[in-house]
Amino acid sequence: MERSDYRGRFAPSPTGPLHFGSLVAALGSYLDAKHHQGKWLVRIEDLDTPRTVKGAADEMLGTLEAYGLHWDEDIIYQSRRTAAYEEAFHRLKEVGAVYPCSCSRREIADSALQCGEELVYPGTCRNGIARGKTARAWRVLVNDAHIVFSDRLQGNIVQHLATQVGDFVVLRADGLFAYQLAVVVDDAFQFITHVVRGADLLYSTPRQIYLQQLLELTTPAYMHLPVVVNAQGEKLSKQTLAQPVEKNNAASTLFAALVFLHQQPPAELRLCTIEHLLAWGIANWQPAAIFPTATATQSN
Ligand code: GLU
Repeated sequence: MERSDYRGRFAPSPTGPLHFGSLVAALGSYLDAKHHQGKWLVRIEDLDTPRTVKGAADEMLGTLEAYGLHWDEDIIYQSRRTAAYEEAFHRLKEVGAVYPCSCSRREIADSALQCGEELVYPGTCRNGIARGKTARAWRVLVNDAHIVFSDRLQGNIVQHLATQVGDFVVLRADGLFAYQLAVVVDDAFQFITHVVRGADLLYSTPRQIYLQQLLELTTPAYMHLPVVVNAQGEKLSKQTLAQPVEKNNAASTLFAALVFLHQQPPAELRLCTIEHLLAWGIANWQPAAIFPTATATQSN
């Protein structure tokens, strides 16, 4: 592949303002793309309408611009791409890869097997819905294969979907397409070659690779960055009351994000403009310097 064929992306869910954790994902994906003379796209993942906060997408985009993280090409919004998800879902139906499921959350919680923190769907509706029940969601039938991929930072990842995940939802009971399906359809639609995102999604990747295989789509390269956690070990998020990054303090926050990513920016960069900081970050980008952990606190 020519270096300039690189296409990366940042795909935030607009559930609140950009905090330091999302800035790290944005910056990491941006530097990796630009270091490879690639394109960096932004996709707004506003598919989960109940979680979407009005105005949050524009607020996030304004912050990215204030940080000098300018995207290439038009932004796509998942809320406007239902037809594409429907088409993919239809293809899955055609190949017999999905089935309707009538189980309620409660029924699943009662009968599911536990794998770590995750509940593994026991396959109750695999052979049809029980009489008198109605379909709520649609699930993908997983097979017995191990999904293996080599993460550029976290190394080899192996997951046995059947015992570690189970048949997973692609069309939710509320009629919305699930993130796992939408992300696969959109990464392919945008010709994404390299996904750089937080390690909270590391174990979603095998599901996405499985869907890519079913839909005959190319699998991009993946790199999962450590997720920023607070002193209590919780991921920075709206729920954990993470503070939004300040728009008028971009240079020092970018500097802190470079430090978080172990890029060792020289101290004098602290006083530089954001353009200068980003240029330094692009030229000196070294993902190998990042510790391959799933989480890290900001002071690490
Ligand atoms: N929208 C997801 C999030 O904000 C990220 C999805 C992805 O990068 O694949 O957590």
